[in-house]
Amino acid sequence: KGDKGNGSGYQFCEQEHINKNIERTELSVELDKAITEKGFFMRFQPVIDLTRGEMIFAEALLRWKHSKKGEMLPEKFIPVAEESGLITRLGGLSIELLVQQVDRIMSAKRLEKLTINIIPSHFLSQSFIVQLQELINTHPDISQYMTIEITEAVFLMNIEAAKSIIFQLHGMGFSISLDDFGTGYSSFKYLQELPIEVIKLDSSFIAEIDIDPSHRTIASTIIELSHSLGIKVIAEGVETNSQLAFLQDHHCDFAQGSYFFKPLSIIELLHMQRGVSLLPNS
Ligand code: C2E
Ligand code: MG
Ligand code: MG
Ligand code: MG
Repeated sequence: KGDKGNGSGYQFCEQEHINKNIERTELSVELDKAITEKGFFMRFQPVIDLTRGEMIFAEALLRWKHSKKGEMLPEKFIPVAEESGLITRLGGLSIELLVQQVDRIMSAKRLEKLTINIIPSHFLSQSFIVQLQELINTHPDISQYMTIEITEAVFLMNIEAAKSIIFQLHGMGFSISLDDFGTGYSSFKYLQELPIEVIKLDSSFIAEIDIDPSHRTIASTIIELSHSLGIKVIAEGVETNSQLAFLQDHHCDFAQGSYFFKPLSIIELLHMQRGVSLLPNS
């Protein structure tokens, strides 16, 4: 990029690199401040029960209310938070934000669970279990309304610690879900050994369902194997009617994605109609 063969290309790349670093540093300073000021909010994406056609869960998805850049997505700020050691504070704040809204959502919507994403480094940190224990002290039945979504990366980072935390959470009454299933090394061994209730079939598989027969085979095999272990399956990133039809044919339990709803504001979530089927194919 920018190399005209006169040696300036290297300099140009280096300058670009420096600019990126400055941008990141600025962002981490802003992020630190925003965490202190709690300048974040949650969106909620409905998860549809494919047998009844109704919303059964909602996934909480964090957003940064950035003063200049508007609503910022996690892909932009979570890596920065991880690099600059802010992830446990940010993760702690996202739990706090969800907890503030649990009562309101549960009394209006009577969902089975709200689900929250926890980044592996936060999940494996000392402060995580402590924070949840404190939470239970102040909100004794919170765990029955919450599913904790983790990725298989926790097993790669520290297998023994990950297993121990999963068992502790289960003992505290939380449900555990494996997110982005199919992108890591997707070991069914963990599904069999650990109290995991749900897996989330990654959106990259769902996207390929319309295109690639081998992905259809993998998706239907994952659904079957999970069911044989007593584990339910959520398909994420469902965008088309034909993806949905495939998932229904293969007895996938739940689905979420823009075909049904994009991540909603809390107001939109609370205004959703109840008792109507959201499925077009029934
Ligand atoms: P994820 O948990 O896999 O979340 C699913 C992502 O798919 C969300 O992106 C959602 O907005 C997006 N999505 C929804 N419908 C569709 C669709 O039809 N097609 C496709 N391709 N994608 C769809 P989002 O909100 O940008 O979040 C990205 C990731 O950031 C999440 O992936 C999760 O790993 C992480 N994240 C989000 N909120 C939190 C949080 O509160 N705490 C932590 N630690 N991580 C979070
Ligand atoms: Mg998730
Ligand atoms: Mg996911
Ligand atoms: Mg995903």
